[in-house]
Amino acid sequence: MGTAEAWTDLTAVVRDVEALEGALGLLEWDQQTMMPRRGAAGRGAQIAALAKVLHERVTQPKVGDLLGALEGQALDEVQAAGVRNLRRSYARATRVSPTLVGKIAEAQSDAFNAWLTAKQDSDFPTFAPKLEKLLDLVRERAAVIDPAAHPYDTLLDEFDPGTTMADLRVTFARLQKGLGELLSAVRDHAELPVYDHPFDAAGQRGLHREVLTAMGFDFDAGRLDDAEHPFSLGLHPDDVRITTHMYPTDLLSSLSGSIHEGGHALYEQGLPVHLRGTTVAKPASFGLHESQSRFWENYIGRSRPFCEWLGGRIAARFPDAPADADLLYRSANRIHPGMIRIKADEVTYNLHIIVRFELEVMLFDGKLTVRDLPEAWNARYQEYLGVTPKNDAEGVLQDVHWSSGAIGYFPSYTLGNLYAASFGKVLETEMPDLWERVGKGDLLPIREWLRTNVHQKGTMKLAPALVKDVVGEQDLVENLLAYLWGRHGALYGVKRPV
Ligand SMILES: [Zn+2]
Repeated sequence: MGTAEAWTDLTAVVRDVEALEGALGLLEWDQQTMMPRRGAAGRGAQIAALAKVLHERVTQPKVGDLLGALEGQALDEVQAAGVRNLRRSYARATRVSPTLVGKIAEAQSDAFNAWLTAKQDSDFPTFAPKLEKLLDLVRERAAVIDPAAHPYDTLLDEFDPGTTMADLRVTFARLQKGLGELLSAVRDHAELPVYDHPFDAAGQRGLHREVLTAMGFDFDAGRLDDAEHPFSLGLHPDDVRITTHMYPTDLLSSLSGSIHEGGHALYEQGLPVHLRGTTVAKPASFGLHESQSRFWENYIGRSRPFCEWLGGRIAARFPDAPADADLLYRSANRIHPGMIRIKADEVTYNLHIIVRFELEVMLFDGKLTVRDLPEAWNARYQEYLGVTPKNDAEGVLQDVHWSSGAIGYFPSYTLGNLYAASFGKVLETEMPDLWERVGKGDLLPIREWLRTNVHQKGTMKLAPALVKDVVGEQDLVENLLAYLWGRHGALYGVKRPV
């Protein structure tokens, strides 16, 4: 079989897979937004049936044959990236036996249900055996995917290919030290104000749509709806769904949720649609995805010029609401070490992630048992954040990730913050009037910059290489710390120690 023919056959399979993924995504989106309560059981069966079809397509022997036919052939850049992506996904999907897949699914469901009750009752011991069992199976799966690799590297590879545990150990240790210095510098300073005012949901929604439109979100290729927990989902670059949650008296929290998901959505809308069918029209990693959301949410959305523009938009829509830019800016940048990751400010957020990363690695290195997790968790919270959870519900049980077997996922959040700060630094040099534009709500050039440098690249390269193309040999940790000190040091009136 010739190269051209094998490639054409392979793209036909990928097109099918992409269409099925979109259909599956739509069932999941609907489940979290529109589905009536009693639809749950039926929906579970629909999702399981479609997921099975999808798995069969991905693992069909024909894919292996076609990849074999392309081995050692002269390929263009897109084909080479496509073949690399497919080799990886085919290996991951075919090496794990259906029996092990079934056992993991069952253990996930058990662990998730146990977690729901355990979190409600703050009762870690009833969750522990379920988590132990799930982690054993996850370890077993990592061993069959790549017996030579450290299991944690295999798990990381699922979310952030190209990033290793060894990289993260070094990066996170430096970051933890630097963030600790910032946190102790601001700790004794007066707290910044809270922006607290009642807003009706319809009014907030109008503001969210206006901000998303300014960012360049295309409402002809996407939707904004309500959900309990904000999320975004790309079914296709021309159909990207965002959801948000309106808090009646906390406009900044609602809005930052929409801006965050909007950043994810711009990435999905900006993918190279002409490369559908090659696997290249996909986001390069979870960390890179998160860099897009954090870039908009924090770097742009909590900046002083953005708050000036926002103040004007609030004043125009809600004449009775406080709309002073200084108040908005100070409230949007409060540092407040707390127990809960999803409520954390942008400084302490990374410390929440570092705690989880260190504990995950210890679990997979055999240096920590599941039973000892709560104690190790609480000790790290005290050491890194200066707070101790009063129970396991607000401690080790707070996140859903481990109960679903998602180990190696948390680092993506901090990778996103690291990438975002460096993107910002480069953008500031390349666009000298950046902040002037932001102050006027002229945000489209920012989207264009991200589109050219990140979105349109799809999976041509692994995320770390793509980031290097944009930022060069810069020190990502130093850039993030310098950005955080620059903004928060000024707000709190503290200087970075030299
Ligand atoms: Zn996100």
